[in-house]
Amino acid sequence: MIPDNRAASGSLFIWMARALREAVWPSKCLVCGSFFQPAMYKNYNLPVKIFNYESILAYNKKSAFHKLMLPFLCSACSTDFVPAESPFCCICGITFKSRIGDDHVCGECIKSPKKFRMARAVGVYEGTLMKTIQRLKYKGKIQLARPLGMLLFFAFIKYWNNKNRIDLIVPVPLHIKRFRKRGFNQAYLLIREWFSYADAFNVKLSYLKIERNALIKNKQTEPQTGLDRKQRRANIKNAFSIGNASKITGESILLIDDVYTTGATADECARVLINEGAKSVDVLTLARGM
Ligand SMILES: [Zn+2]
Ligand SMILES: [Zn+2]
Repeated sequence: MIPDNRAASGSLFIWMARALREAVWPSKCLVCGSFFQPAMYKNYNLPVKIFNYESILAYNKKSAFHKLMLPFLCSACSTDFVPAESPFCCICGITFKSRIGDDHVCGECIKSPKKFRMARAVGVYEGTLMKTIQRLKYKGKIQLARPLGMLLFFAFIKYWNNKNRIDLIVPVPLHIKRFRKRGFNQAYLLIREWFSYADAFNVKLSYLKIERNALIKNKQTEPQTGLDRKQRRANIKNAFSIGNASKITGESILLIDDVYTTGATADECARVLINEGAKSVDVLTLARGM
């Protein structure tokens, strides 16, 4: 237990009650299932102390992932994370094998130009990031949406705020049947608390709107897993329509999703949004399949 926890968790009584609870019911890592001694800042006071605007801009994704995941994961799992860092494709964000040199446009983006302007991600879709996304989506561990959403918020600050103007944030929707079955849209859960994070970190986001129903998924598609690039494109074609065109006309949109694999979903959403009058579409995901 680190001494700072005491101040972060309020009164001595609360601290003692928590310490007792942890002793009787130790936390179980949400990824590997092992018991561990969690860092007790579940109320997120501590991250505000750790991060400020300057440190977010210069943030080290690996250490931010580790710190934000500490209450939920054992330390072995919280360090198993690969950030999506430069050099990457300036358009689709794929990281290049060679870790030296500048960002440039990849062969795939030259061959088939994208409808969106740029896509960025927090980390590579592997290890703990992949497992936490799967726990969130398929096991209903929605408590993971807070730290993952904060990591996504930090990436937004790094790649967009004060640099690339965004008016409207749109989560990639689920088909109504899948939404009812799952009970939530993970993409929306990831951005739901951005305005409270903005307040906590003193970031001005008042110019930004979140529009949950800008896009509608009207076709129940097969899971994209196991399909190649061409099949994914065919599978997702015409799967989305616009909820309310007046909300997106002339807007610079940031599309949010949990994972970017081949970009078929992001590109199809961007195509529909631009056809219906959006000014531009950018994409931010938690993870990037490589
Ligand atoms: Zn673990
Ligand atoms: Zn590319």
